[in-house]
Amino acid sequence: MNYKKRTENNLALYGGKPCRPKNKFLVFGSPAIGKEEILEIQDSIKKRWIGTGPKVARFENDFAEYKGSPFAIALNSCTAALHLSMLASGVCPGNEVITTPMTFCATINAIIHSGATPVLADCDRKTMNVDPREIEKKITKKTKAVLIVHFAGRPCDMGPIISICRKRKLALIEDCAHAIESEYHGKKTGTFGQLGCFSFYVTKNIITGEGGMVITRNKEMASKIKVLALHGMSKDAWKRFADEGYKHYQVIYPGFKYNMMDIQAAIGIHQLKRIDNYWKKRKAIWERYNKEFAGLPCYIPADPEPRTKHAFHLYTPLIDIKKLGKTRDWVLQALTAENIGVGVHYIPVHLHPYYAKTYGWEKGSFPNAEWIGERTISLPLSPALTKDDVRDVCRAFKKVLKGKT
Ligand SMILES: *Cc1c(COP(=O)(O)O)cnc(C)c1O
Repeated sequence: MNYKKRTENNLALYGGKPCRPKNKFLVFGSPAIGKEEILEIQDSIKKRWIGTGPKVARFENDFAEYKGSPFAIALNSCTAALHLSMLASGVCPGNEVITTPMTFCATINAIIHSGATPVLADCDRKTMNVDPREIEKKITKKTKAVLIVHFAGRPCDMGPIISICRKRKLALIEDCAHAIESEYHGKKTGTFGQLGCFSFYVTKNIITGEGGMVITRNKEMASKIKVLALHGMSKDAWKRFADEGYKHYQVIYPGFKYNMMDIQAAIGIHQLKRIDNYWKKRKAIWERYNKEFAGLPCYIPADPEPRTKHAFHLYTPLIDIKKLGKTRDWVLQALTAENIGVGVHYIPVHLHPYYAKTYGWEKGSFPNAEWIGERTISLPLSPALTKDDVRDVCRAFKKVLKGKT
């Protein structure tokens, strides 16, 4: 009898009822939101200014200050931030951009939509981050940029990556979707490259629903991104309709519609105030999981490297398939049957049909990413989790991996 049938008959695979009742299914990645956000949204609506306006400007200032970056441009997603970062760094058709196979498809799509060709460099099995030696191997005359991803919130090995980019004169862009709080040797992620891209999607460490941000030290790049994000118009709508008198806009580039709304920024402003508080909660849960799961047939995530700050965005143990005698997908089913929501970050990008077909990538091309991709599972990790939620996750994971309650 398959697992689903058995649970339907209220016979979890190893006996007993699910660790959590079905009507309390624990949704993976649900965010913490406070009453300040609700009041701030109400304020925007009451003032009848819900589009891009003063709250977006305030969120940009607050975020720039938080990251210690001179410029921050709020956008409607990290995907938009990645796309415009490609364009602002001059990436164009004929170029190659090196990135990791262990990422979300948005990273690769941003490269493709700039007209360039994505080139993958395999990751490290322990850190799950791109291996700098693999980057070096993939550099050709066409390479224009390196797009790194700080996976799960663990900062990449920036020392060697920066020296490679300097030596080979490559643009460096950071996908910091997982890594808002991360630091490497005292320096904040997103400030190593020319451009750093952030996400405030609902599952990320701080949220605006949909939303993103680009940070940069480069004034020209900042103003280029601002223009590209709003149709290629030389003045944004807020300035146009403010009290300073009527101004015509001029289109100086066929741009995009990537601007953030005040309603989104209204959430972000208050989320950002709580970022350290949220981070401490994530850290505590991460450490509790590590302690609870030691000795199970899985590899728990490696400790953060010395002199780094991990953002603890994802908790990703790797299933020891041999020891357990079951696949990762079986574990996914089993935990879902325990009413615990889970995720997979990621099936490596090169195995998705479009990329495989277009770029000739196949199984075996990036063995470390595949090794992780077959074993990885993401357990709920959020400041919204209650003590009971964390207890249920611990019980369920132990039950499923140990084969007993
Ligand atoms: C979430 C995510 C993105 C995309 O972020 P959006 O804000 O949803 O566009 C990009 N890269 C990585 C690694 C992500 O996890």
